Amino acid sequence: MASKPPTGDPVQDAPQVEAPKHAAAGLPAIGHTLLMAQQQMGVRRTAQTLLKVNQKNGFDCPGCAWPEGDKRHTAEFCENGAKAVAEEATLRRVTPEFFAAHPLSDLAARSGYWLGQQGRITQPMYLPEGGDRYEAVTWERAFEIIAEELTALDSPDEALFYTSGRTSNEAAFLLQLFAREFGTNNLPDCSNMCHESSGSALTETIGIGKGSVSLEDLHRADLIVIAGQNPGTNHPRMLSALEKAKSAGAKIISVNPLPEAGLEKFKNPQTPQGMIKGAALTDLFLQIRIGGDQALFRLLNKLIVETEGAVDELFVREHTHGFEEFEAAAKEADWDATLEATGLTRTEIERALAMVLASRRTIVCWAMGLTQHKHSVPTIREVVNFLLLRGNIGRPGAGVCPVRGHSNVQGDRTMGIFERPAPAFLDALEKEFGFAPPRHHGYDVVRSIEALRDGRAKVFFAMGGNFVAATPDTEVTEAAMRRASLTVHVSTKLNRSHAVTGRRALILPTLGRTDKDVQHSGRQFVTVEDSMGMVHASRGNLAPASPHLLSEPAIVVRMARATLGARSAVDWAEFERDYATVRDRIARVVPGFEDFNAKVARPGGFQLPHAPRDERRFPTATGKANFTAAPVEVPELPEGRLLLQTLRSHDQYNTTIYGLDDRYRGIKGGRRVVLVNPEDARQLGLADGSYTDLVSEWKDGVERRAPGFRVVHYPTARGCAAAYYPETNVLVPLGSTADVSNTPASKSVVVRFEAALAAGNES
Ligand code: SF4
Repeated sequence: MASKPPTGDPVQDAPQVEAPKHAAAGLPAIGHTLLMAQQQMGVRRTAQTLLKVNQKNGFDCPGCAWPEGDKRHTAEFCENGAKAVAEEATLRRVTPEFFAAHPLSDLAARSGYWLGQQGRITQPMYLPEGGDRYEAVTWERAFEIIAEELTALDSPDEALFYTSGRTSNEAAFLLQLFAREFGTNNLPDCSNMCHESSGSALTETIGIGKGSVSLEDLHRADLIVIAGQNPGTNHPRMLSALEKAKSAGAKIISVNPLPEAGLEKFKNPQTPQGMIKGAALTDLFLQIRIGGDQALFRLLNKLIVETEGAVDELFVREHTHGFEEFEAAAKEADWDATLEATGLTRTEIERALAMVLASRRTIVCWAMGLTQHKHSVPTIREVVNFLLLRGNIGRPGAGVCPVRGHSNVQGDRTMGIFERPAPAFLDALEKEFGFAPPRHHGYDVVRSIEALRDGRAKVFFAMGGNFVAATPDTEVTEAAMRRASLTVHVSTKLNRSHAVTGRRALILPTLGRTDKDVQHSGRQFVTVEDSMGMVHASRGNLAPASPHLLSEPAIVVRMARATLGARSAVDWAEFERDYATVRDRIARVVPGFEDFNAKVARPGGFQLPHAPRDERRFPTATGKANFTAAPVEVPELPEGRLLLQTLRSHDQYNTTIYGLDDRYRGIKGGRRVVLVNPEDARQLGLADGSYTDLVSEWKDGVERRAPGFRVVHYPTARGCAAAYYPETNVLVPLGSTADVSNTPASKSVVVRFEAALAAGNES
């Protein structure tokens, strides 16, 4: 029998700490999976869903974007994928009666964990101007309200259309189509906060903003460098691929300020041998200082250039541009400066070099640890330099592998969810639909918050996600959101963003990945694109959580019809009746999707083309792969301060909190903890178990405070601290972003510690 959600009583944040783990998954993962699944879904529904997730005729996991192999296991999911499914397929319901019992002030006082545990929202809800609680509203009235607000704007650019990475290709394509026919490119998305730096650096250097490796490549690599990524929690089934690569002789270098259990050993629950003995993963752990990655790769590149015969000169000559300027810059790299910037030893770097030189097929995988810094774009360019030097792009078993954290974040961008669309995409859209899309760039996430703050944006529409919790500078963002005239959230479950509203607000409950989607023409499926460019179908198999839900595509279609009416050049209605008609349009607008319906009907779907991988053809400004030679940057750290990175616990997926434990790091029953190196703590007078306030410092002179964190002495790199978001997003200044990509610099926040006024608070 599924359990009841936490009720009225606040959930105390009282973290207990034990020794960190040194292996991921195994029996505990099975135990936690079944416990959480049973609590949310009960036994029968647990089986119904978990035997369908990531299967070829099933639904795509609403968790991360890790691909599936062609051969599917009976249990084709990880612990955190099961948690994501359980939270969506929960039997708990949030009804109009719930909203009647919980005024906005109460919802605003609740933690994200408590809100998320209440269950699936069953009906459209409306918060009238001056109202203190949401009330049920009809879909017709909801779309009327949206149309009223949008058509009352002085400019289409006063509207913002945000997309979270769970949105399907079909819904994303329709949302960008609507926004552009409405007249704006204000299409911020969660990619702006995560891999935008990867997209910017890769588009410039290899001509396409996506990873160039397939799952098969990972299995064939002989060296895998994992930088700024914690796959054990954020992409858990990647560990199976690493185990497979290791068993074929591959070596692994992990570059991370934190020792992570999932990088040390993997106890594969799919095999008795795996479960008992497990597989050691990392061969060389480089415990680098936060923000030291560019310096590390620059020095490695110097050493490669200076090693006789180490450079793939034929590849460099035939396929690259800018080598000479890069080579000159690389030779400037300095050992002492690099050791200072990285906190590593000469021996460690020399060991890494030896492993690099012994490799013929190298892959570099990365995530937020590289993308959320001021100098992230130059850092990722340096990673590309590192791979180009030895011809490790467009070779089987080699390449770039930015690992996406949201199930369809890459697909949404491919569908046109981008505030800076390519002219070729707009040309194709105009040719296909017969209207002139706007050509001026729109707002990304940070610009959107600034526009709301400054009154330049008035209507905020979000397709999924939890905007105010996921974004930086929480107090600024929440105040900005409250300036909107209307906020609209298409959601499956409650979250903080529903409690931080504009003058009026709407919650539009939608179908989840696990729900059956039946439209006029019959049962529908949607499609997603994983981190490695595989596009495949997703079909929910459960009766929808309520008869009052609409699918994401239907919501966009009805909003478009209500807002654009007869002035629209698009036959919106057909798209709701049959999603195949959406895919027919995508096939004519988006390169690589020709014959989309036919190709996606194949079991497992199809791989999108990737010129650098497939043909060593680089569609860049020079027509070659570009070496770059940016100056090396290292975060500055004033005396008596530490550099904080915000991160996820193991019981968390983006801003969704599944539980209050972080099992691999030994944290239980609480989230307001700050991990500090024992020697740093001693110097700063921070006793283990004491409580402190975190105060961030930035050039705007504003003091941003996160109160009541329990100090945990933890083996972080010296000078580096770590704490969970969204609790510490309040510390990240809105203006502190990566150059070029404008991604919030959530991984390098300068903090000081002040005696806590009070210990912890609700979680
Ligand atoms: S690895 Fe990612 S996509 Fe796969 S089951 Fe786990 S959370 Fe879901």
